[in-house]
Amino acid sequence: MSEQQQGTLYVISAPSGAGKTSLVAQMLERDPVLGVSISHTTRPMRSGEQDGVNYHFVGCEQFEAMIERDEFLEHADVFGNYYGTSQRWVADTLAQGRDVILEIDWQGAVQVRRLMPDCVGIFILPPSPEVLRQRLTGRGTDAAEVVERRLREAAEECRHAQEFDFLVVNDNFEVALADLLAIVRGQRLRVTAQEARHAGLLASLTARP
Ligand code: 5GP
Repeated sequence: MSEQQQGTLYVISAPSGAGKTSLVAQMLERDPVLGVSISHTTRPMRSGEQDGVNYHFVGCEQFEAMIERDEFLEHADVFGNYYGTSQRWVADTLAQGRDVILEIDWQGAVQVRRLMPDCVGIFILPPSPEVLRQRLTGRGTDAAEVVERRLREAAEECRHAQEFDFLVVNDNFEVALADLLAIVRGQRLRVTAQEARHAGLLASLTARP
């Protein structure tokens, strides 16, 4: 039996308001080989969210028991709530040859990079501070201090942008989406990936006539 080639792990980070979740959702629509890891979190569910779809929503005790059992590939306290990635799901999915996206913060990205140095890191930036402020202000119904806190958190996340392999600016959604899909396509064309996929072709083309 031929050995299944491992998928590629993508770590995608961004400040809130950069459009990461919508971009990742569209990447999944356009590319059936991609899968996204559903994180565990202790933060309360927001309206419109579903357990097991957006996140696995768990209590603090359950999360801490999972840390004890070493079930997370990475986990972090992000602005007061725990978030973590299931080690098992990621390993199993990559072993099936599927590419996996982790939508995580910069602290998680540091941990994943240390454990899996072959992962591909992508950071998504909003096009300007003004646009970020507009996006974080939403419909203008949030209190000024809530918006200011979101802006401070966004700046903290953006300070880590240069630690990633790729930077994508989300000014025009379709352009940013095409950029992300181009990165994925580029990785699949790397010689290390292609030589395994096309071993027969390479052998036939290099055989002595
Ligand atoms: P939100 O609560 O708005 O969905 O996400 C808040 C932040 O937590 C975002 O920056 C998001 O990328 C990050 N996050 C979501 N899941 C994980 C995870 O499994 N691990 C880490 N480290 N961060 C996560």
